[in-house]
Amino acid sequence: MILKDDEILKKKFQIVICGSGPAGISIALELEKKKIECLIIEAGDEFYSEKAQSRYKGEVYGNFPEDLSVLRLSQFGGTSGHWGGTCRTLDNYDFQNWPIKKSEIDPFLDSSCEILNIPKSFREKNINNNLKIIEFQESKVRFYEKYYEHIKRSKFINLALNCIFFNIKMSGNKVTELFLKSTKDISIKTNFLVLACGGIENSRLLLWFRENNKEISKDLPIGNYWMEHPFKKIGSGVGNFKAIRKNFENNFESFKNFRNWGNFTVSISPTQNLISQKNILNSAVFLTLHDRNNDNFKNNIKDLLCVAPSLSNHILDLFNKDLLCGITLSSSWEQNPQLENRITLSSSKDFSGIPLTKLNYQLSDLSLQTANEMVNQIGNYFIDKDLGRLGAYKTIENLSSFVSEAGYHHIGGTIMGKSKKSSVVDKNLKLHNIENLYICGSSVFPTGGHANPTLSIVQLSLRLGEHLIKRLKTI
Ligand SMILES: Cc1cc2nc3c(=O)[nH]c(=O)nc-3n(C[C@H](O)[C@H](O)[C@H](O)COP(=O)(O)OP(=O)(O)OC[C@H]3O[C@@H](n4cnc5c(N)ncnc54)[C@H](O)[C@@H]3O)c2cc1C
Repeated sequence: MILKDDEILKKKFQIVICGSGPAGISIALELEKKKIECLIIEAGDEFYSEKAQSRYKGEVYGNFPEDLSVLRLSQFGGTSGHWGGTCRTLDNYDFQNWPIKKSEIDPFLDSSCEILNIPKSFREKNINNNLKIIEFQESKVRFYEKYYEHIKRSKFINLALNCIFFNIKMSGNKVTELFLKSTKDISIKTNFLVLACGGIENSRLLLWFRENNKEISKDLPIGNYWMEHPFKKIGSGVGNFKAIRKNFENNFESFKNFRNWGNFTVSISPTQNLISQKNILNSAVFLTLHDRNNDNFKNNIKDLLCVAPSLSNHILDLFNKDLLCGITLSSSWEQNPQLENRITLSSSKDFSGIPLTKLNYQLSDLSLQTANEMVNQIGNYFIDKDLGRLGAYKTIENLSSFVSEAGYHHIGGTIMGKSKKSSVVDKNLKLHNIENLYICGSSVFPTGGHANPTLSIVQLSLRLGEHLIKRLKTI
């Protein structure tokens, strides 16, 4: 049901969820299954509006590739309004620094795949001790299209649009009052509050609440350890088209949306063995084959003919038989958590009066080493199997000249953990020391693996929904 200000004021909601993106809607759907009523507060409108979006402006320092205002959407359905839809589960070993294991979110995979309309198939196959090919799925779900009418008719999910969650009032270790800016300023009470405002806004809002509520400890590392997934073309090469296709033959769904990539793509990831042996991060490399008929290539062969005629003739022979193809390696990979990569508050404010985001972000050496190691490993595999030759692009050699494309995945800032000094929420996503404030979204991930985050966000949201249902029974 869509509510106006007066209708919000007439009711008391046991659970209020701030944000109607994949996280917020998934929690509400889980509560609805058990006939529990909640209110979703959404700052944006039913569709895109310049005004709502203007709250997403911010300052960026370091080598973060994009303007903060274009990276996410403030409207019903949140950023799912323009997401790419690529989905994969995190790996077991991505949970090494999490306070929960993968097996604790696995039970929510079936329902999450139903929400995202994707098959529950994330197969993988080792191609040697160090590398495996992996499967992705592609969701076509826009949360507006799938859930707006449903929520409009729902008896249990209430929605307030164009309503900015502005602040909280606390008493002891409890949030007692929520301040909202809608057509007018209103305040409401609730038993449980969930912030599901996205991977940047969760930190921003919480920092703002802390400025106004001394009960939220200064020791909590809010905004710190912020990460994203760098995305870049990392290498290229030439190879034997037929041999490569035969070698990697599989019926996995591969990562290929967004770009008009060549006629064959295979997704390659490091095994746990490689990650621990080489001390690198997790990664996905997308190996694409395409025709090699550009002038540059022909000129290179002409030059090569002068110095290495038999090698060049062999290459030309393959080229004439249509056997030779171009290979591009693109990658989306992990960034390790670093204290200095953080969200803080700017001295400028949005139109509602909340300070804008200030982001400091620098890619790490380790992250770039990971990209280089993956090109080496896949290159060696190509030599072993005599499939072709690959090399890393110069652009990934040096951190000072490296410019990533945006990965659009905003991770960390309100990370989960056991310690109140090094994490913000506990394993149930409850803010440390505060009884009734929960955070949900990729901001709680202590590390990000390489998998696109939304499937894991939905799994965590359903788990949080289940936890809240249990807590409601205790009050
Ligand atoms: C171009 C692009 C492509 C992407 N592709 C993929 C992909 O292929 N696969 C993948 O897994 N992920 C992808 N992502 C990331 C994905 O969109 C996010 O992981 C996902 O949307 C996060 O969901 P969320 O609910 O946590 O946050 P959001 O979707 O950002 O929703 C947050 C909501 O909270 C609302 N809100 C914020 N502040 C307030 C406030 N103060 N008061 C009230 N409401 C508020 C916002 O208006 C918004 O509607 C992509 C992102 C982008 C930008």
